[in-house]
Formats: sequence, structure tokens, C-alpha cells
Amino acid sequence: MSLLEFLSRGSAPDLGSERGVSCTGELPDPSDPALVDRAMVAKTALGSRLMILGHHYQRDEVIRFADITGDSFKLAQAAANNREAELIVFCGVHFMAESADILTSESQKVILPDLAAGCSMADMATQSQVAEAGRIFAELGISSSTIPVTYMNSSAAIKSFTGEHGGTICTSSNAERAMRWALEQGDRIFFLPDQHLGRNTAVRKLGLTLADCVIWNPWKDRGGLTDDEIHGAKVLLWRGHCSVHGRFTAKNVEDMRSQVPGIQILVHPECQYEVVSQADHVGSTEQIIKTIAEAPQGSSWAIGTELNLVRRLATENPGKNIHFLDKAICYCSTMNRIDLPHLVWALETLAKGRIVNQIKVDPVTAKFSRVALERMLALP
Ligand code: SF4
Repeated sequence: MSLLEFLSRGSAPDLGSERGVSCTGELPDPSDPALVDRAMVAKTALGSRLMILGHHYQRDEVIRFADITGDSFKLAQAAANNREAELIVFCGVHFMAESADILTSESQKVILPDLAAGCSMADMATQSQVAEAGRIFAELGISSSTIPVTYMNSSAAIKSFTGEHGGTICTSSNAERAMRWALEQGDRIFFLPDQHLGRNTAVRKLGLTLADCVIWNPWKDRGGLTDDEIHGAKVLLWRGHCSVHGRFTAKNVEDMRSQVPGIQILVHPECQYEVVSQADHVGSTEQIIKTIAEAPQGSSWAIGTELNLVRRLATENPGKNIHFLDKAICYCSTMNRIDLPHLVWALETLAKGRIVNQIKVDPVTAKFSRVALERMLALP
């Protein structure tokens, strides 16, 4: 399928309009034809002092320069295992760069090429809201039996709460292991901030019921729950979601099945429970890539995950029919903030000896965040 055919499934955005919205004034011109060469020259000049990490949802123009590509779990491991690179340029979003800073040594510096690359899901759980939930658990006498399991897609402050309260971090690759571990430590899980990953894992992997999972709404008094509901829950799901994966609907699945006979539906567990329930396969970003790589030639797939990745899978698997699950084209707007001009600007500035856009987590927050992240890395 050509890119044109691929995009014609819906109304394609003007890719040019997504670039460098808040130009610092120092950014290279996006139309500069030498950008690729400039990135290569700066990368070569930095040599082994530099490691570039690239999340799978990054643009092609950026991911081509990554030394290691992966989902947030794989990139966290890569950061933790590297002690040589003095400069780690993280092509991803803010919470990923924070985790890399926590897991690397004091002398290593983590750089985010555009500081506006945040995550709307991470923003749905603030430090004060989570602290208030913790206060209510203490008041009810359930602090030690309520184990936080926090998705990687969260701020360092929420990871710190998790570490301090006996919990662990998880990713979409290891959420099942993390939740099983948590239920061995206590009576219930406090799952933050993605309700869909928490619910899908609890019901589909752990065998809990939908009724075992209740929503903790941070905008309501005491999470919008009675004390009995809190006591009775096996999983308290923070009311957060991914604005990209949360948009896929059961109707998208139905439409795709009626349009393409024999198509298989493959979705990420951040999708809504109704979507995941109707899919043929559910998997983390890494699992989605592996599934498509191993799929037979001529097979047809509709994939419910971020569009940069789906488009790349379509390009890299020309003998397979790859479709985006939704008719409307949707990128993760914050992931897309990291474009080639920002990467070139960051690399060239670093090559001149100036540190820019360093992500530094304060030592107090880092201490318990590291505890939570290391619990994840040590999960059986
Ligand atoms: S895809 Fe969703 S979870 Fe990932 S960075 Fe974008 S908004 Fe956040």
C-alpha cells in the first residue's frame, strides 16, 4: 500500500504544521536540505560520548539517528545498562527522559530535544492529587495493603510516591507481572494513571472481574467512592487515559472487519476495554512489531496504536496489508514535537560543548522513583 493510499483512509494532517510550533529562534530552518548531513556530522563528532534513544512512536526523520529504538521499557533498560555515554539524547517524551535520568549515573546527562514533548496521560495524575489519595488510604487504615502499580507513563513525582508506598512501576510489556507481584504484597492495587491498561490487564490476564475494578476519580471528593467501595475493590483505577489509544472504538473494529474480509485486529492495551475485547490480538508496542514481523505474506492487519509506528510497519512490510484502525489520522502530538530541526539543534549545540534541555530530577524525588523503577527491573 502506498503512503498516499494509506493516508487516504482519512483526512491526513499537514505534517508541516506540526513542526517546531514554539521555535526558540535558534532552530535550523525545517526546509534546510542539509539537515540530515548536519545531524550525521554532529553525531559523529560526539562519538561514543553520545547515545541516542528513540521511542517507536517517533518520526522516521528522527528514529533513523537512534542508536537504540524501543518501547519505554526497553529504553529504560538501555539507559540503566549504559555507563559509558556522557550524553543521552532522548527522542521520546518528558517522563521517559526523567526515568533515564533517574536510572543513569550522576555524571551522565539526559537531553530532551524539545521540552514541550510531554504526555497528556502523565499530566492526568498530579502530585497533589495522588498525595490526597494516599492520605485517604492512611485514614482508612489501608495504606500498607494498597500497593501502587504505576505505569511508566507518569511523572517522576508519581513514581516517587509509588516507590515510597511499596509499589512498582510497570510498562505495557510487564503490567501482568507487576500486578501479580502487587497482589502478593497486599490486598488491592492502586493503578495509575492509565485506567485502560489497568482494567485490561486485571480482567484479561489476572482473571479479575470488571466489578473488582473501580475508578478513582481525582476530581471528585474521596475519588468519588464510598469507603465500602474502596475497601471492596481489588483494583482502584486512576481515571486517566492515553489521548491517542483511547480514541479507538468498537465501531472502528466493526467497520474494519466489514471493509476488509479476513482482517486481523491488533491493538495496544492502552485501548478501551470494549476495543481490546473485540480485537484478535493485544500487545505492547514491542509485541505489535514482533507480531507483524512474523505475520505471513498477504495477511491483512488493522493496528490500533500510534500512527508513526503503524506507518513504519506498513513501509517495512510491503507484502502485508497494514491498515490504521481509525479512519481519522492521529499522531501523538507530543511525540511529534521531536522533529529533525530540534534534533539537529540539540546535537550541534552539544557538539559545541553547551548542554541544552537537560532533564534533571531532584534528588529527593529521584530517590524513591529509583526504588520503584528498580523494583520493576527486578520483577520475576
Ligand atoms: S501515545 Fe499516549 S501515552 Fe504515549 S506519549 Fe502520547 S499521549 Fe502519552
